[in-house]
Amino acid sequence: MTHELLVIGSANADLVVSADRRPGGGETVLGGDTEILPGGKGANTAVAAARLGADVALVGAVGDDPYGSVLLDSLRGSGVDTGLVRTSSRPTGIAYITVTPDGENSILVSPGANGSIEPADVEGIFDGVKTVVLSLEIPLPTVERAVAAAADAGVKVLFNLSPAAKISDATLAALDVLLVNEHEAAWLLGGELDDPRQLLELGPKAAVVTLGARGAVVVTEDGAVEVASPKVEAVDTTGAGDAFAGALAAAVTAGKSLVEAAEHAVKVAAISVTRRGAQPSYPTSDEV
Ligand code: ATP
Repeated sequence: MTHELLVIGSANADLVVSADRRPGGGETVLGGDTEILPGGKGANTAVAAARLGADVALVGAVGDDPYGSVLLDSLRGSGVDTGLVRTSSRPTGIAYITVTPDGENSILVSPGANGSIEPADVEGIFDGVKTVVLSLEIPLPTVERAVAAAADAGVKVLFNLSPAAKISDATLAALDVLLVNEHEAAWLLGGELDDPRQLLELGPKAAVVTLGARGAVVVTEDGAVEVASPKVEAVDTTGAGDAFAGALAAAVTAGKSLVEAAEHAVKVAAISVTRRGAQPSYPTSDEV
């Protein structure tokens, strides 16, 4: 069961409810009907890559409960191999999302099964793998072990530092590509993103900073290259960063240069923001 692309990360059920306002402490507010949507950074990234034709497996965990089945069905329906998604004794991860009329989201995440992904789960899984993508909704020791093991095995390592967290210098130095949004980049650089080339001083061989509607900037030892986004009417940007990550990884795995991969990823992410939801909004390669 070898795959060219492995995604190691979270799978969550997003429970989305709209309400006129969010409840304060001790208060009850009636909202609309709940929508149950497949989400989680790892699952979103794997689905985005698989829709584009990548040969991809997710390494993760869900609970033995109905939400776990929803997530597995969504992954398989998009062509993601789920043989390395373990069933945990903890419940499936859930994001409780309240949306108010001003368009503001407030999100409470219960990591559940995602918190049970251990370093042992990432041992011996890199044979024949070309690229691995990691993000941070799973325990940091597991992520850092996976980066070290993948780098040792000669696998290209893409790391999406989201949500931002302090990672070791050794982990940063083992990365082929550090992928961050503008806020994460500024946080890493101590507050300001003046020059994205400074990210390479932290250790990765290359970096990609996503810039929302403006696209992205790719930094390699040859310098920084800006990649503009196509202009689109954005309807819902949920999961745009994960669409970008999946598309970037799929293209790098197919042998594209990082700049070519980013040119592909901005197209994929732009299509994703024109449609509602995260996974349901991701395009196939035919559409791109
Ligand atoms: P999110 O948290 O919404 O998933 P993010 O904060 O991780 O996203 P962004 O930089 O906001 O990352 O967006 C990722 C990519 O999605 C951008 O590089 C761009 O290609 C695309 N994108 C986001 N917003 C827009 C938009 N309004 N129009 C076109 N493309 C967009």
